[in-house]
Amino acid sequence: MTKPVIAIVGRPNVGKSTIFNRIVGERVSIVEDIPGVTRDRIYSSAEWLTHDFNIIDTGGIEISDAPFMEQIRQQAEIAIDEADVIIFMTNGREGVTLADEQVAKMLYKTKKPIVLAVNKIDNPDMREMMYDFYSLGFGDPFPISGSHGLGLGDLLDECAKNFPQDNEEQYGEDVIKFSLIGRPNVGKSSLVNAFLGQDRVIVSDVAGTTRDAIDSPYEYDGQEYVIIDTAGMRKKGKVYETTEKYSVLRALRAIERSDVVLVVLNADEGIQEQDKKIAGYAHEAGKAVVIVVNKWDAVEKDEKTMNFYTEQIREHFLFLDYAPIIFVSAKTRKRVHQILPVIQRASENHAMRVQSSILNEVIEDAVARNPAPTDKGRRLRIYYATQVAIKPPTFVVFVNESELMHFSYERFLENRIRETFDFEGTPIRLITRTRA
Ligand code: GDP
Ligand code: GDP
Repeated sequence: MTKPVIAIVGRPNVGKSTIFNRIVGERVSIVEDIPGVTRDRIYSSAEWLTHDFNIIDTGGIEISDAPFMEQIRQQAEIAIDEADVIIFMTNGREGVTLADEQVAKMLYKTKKPIVLAVNKIDNPDMREMMYDFYSLGFGDPFPISGSHGLGLGDLLDECAKNFPQDNEEQYGEDVIKFSLIGRPNVGKSSLVNAFLGQDRVIVSDVAGTTRDAIDSPYEYDGQEYVIIDTAGMRKKGKVYETTEKYSVLRALRAIERSDVVLVVLNADEGIQEQDKKIAGYAHEAGKAVVIVVNKWDAVEKDEKTMNFYTEQIREHFLFLDYAPIIFVSAKTRKRVHQILPVIQRASENHAMRVQSSILNEVIEDAVARNPAPTDKGRRLRIYYATQVAIKPPTFVVFVNESELMHFSYERFLENRIRETFDFEGTPIRLITRTRA
C-alpha cells in the first residue's frame, strides 16, 4: 500500500506551516537525536481517524532566486505533481488577494481534487468572512483556525473522501524494490546505467541535470528488481527539481516505496552533512540500507585506503552500523556486479522471521552472561520475546517493568540477536513492554 499524499499550497502567511504542524502533531524523530541530522518540516506521515497519509507543506520549499509570484507558482506545480489531494489555503482575515487568484489559476489546470481552506476563522462570528472565497471556483470553502485547531476534522474528512481508491503497490511481493539516494552528482544515474547495462539514463556533468525514466524493472540471476525513481533522476526538467528540499522530498518518497535503500557516497569528495541527513531518513524509515561508495576509480589508493574509508564511514554513520559498505566505480564498472547480490541479501534479512524458541534461547543466554540492569534495588526481568513484524524485523520484549530497560542494555540484546541471526543490512527494532 502506498499512502495517499496531501499537499498544502497557498501564498505566504496564510498559516500553511501552522496547519501542517497541527496535522502532523508532535512526532519525535529518531533522526533528530543524531547530531547534525535534523528533519525538514515539509514532509511527514500523519494519521486522521483510520487514514494514514503523507503531507507536504509546499510553502517550506523555497525556490532560490525566484520572484515571489514565481515561487508560489512553482510550489503549486509541485503540489500538482506530487499530491493526490491538494489543500488550497487562504486567509479569511484578508479576503481573496491577487496572489490567491494566481494560485487558483495554476490549480485550474489539474484534475486532482482540491479542497479550499479558509484559515484564521478563529471564532464562529467570523464565518461570514469566508463567503468571498466562493469566487475562487472551488466550491464550498472549509473554515479553519490553525491557532485554535478548529475545523481540521472536517477538512481532513473532505480530503480523505478524495483519496484514490486503488492505491495498491503495482509490484508483487517477490520483487525487490530499491532506490539510490545521495547528493547530486555522486553518480546515482551512472550506477543505474551500469546496472541496466545500457545508456537509458542521460548523464551530464552539471549538478542536478541528470534525468531518467520512471521506475526501472530489472531481472538478474532469477530475481526481479525495480529501481525506484529518485530526485534528479527523472526526465522532467522542471526548475524546482534542483532545489535541495525538493530533492529531499523526492528521496523521501522513493525511500518509502523501497525495500532497500542504497546510500550513494562520492569517494572523491568525502562525507558531507547532507549525506548523513539523507542516510538518516533511510534508517528512520526502517529500510534495509547498503552504503555504496562510488567513483572509487578516482581515488589514489594503496592497500590501506579501503580500511581507512570504512573507518571514516563507520564513524560518521554510527546509526548505520548494520549496513554493508561496497566500493564501486560506475565508470569502470568495478564491483558493480556485486551490488545486486548485496541488495538481495539485505532484502532477505529485512524480511526475515526468526523462531521464537531460538530467539528466547538467545535472550536467556544473553541475560546469563550479562545480568539485566537494576534501579533502586529493582532488577529488570525479561519474561519472553517474540518477533511481531518484518521489514524491519521488530521484536517485543515482555518484562516486569519497562522503565528498568536501559538503552545500553537494549543495545546489548540487539547485538546478541544480530550475532545469532544474520541481520546484516537491516535495522532491527526492540520494543519493551511491561507484562502485567
Ligand atoms: P505560512 O507562511 O502559510 O506557512 O504561514 P504560517 O503558518 O507561518 O503562519 C503565518 C502567521 O499566521 C503566523 O504568525 C501564525 O501564528 C498566524 N496564524 C496561523 N494560523 C492562524 C489562525 O488560525 N488564526 C490566527 N489568528 N493566526 C494564525
Ligand atoms: P547523480 O546526480 O548522482 O545521478 O550523478 P551522475 O550519475 O549524473 O554523475 C555525475 C558525474 O559523475 C558525471 O559526470 C559522471 O560521469 C561522473 N561519475 C559517475 N560515476 C563515476 C565513477 O564511478 N567514476 C568517475 N570518475 N566519475 C563518475
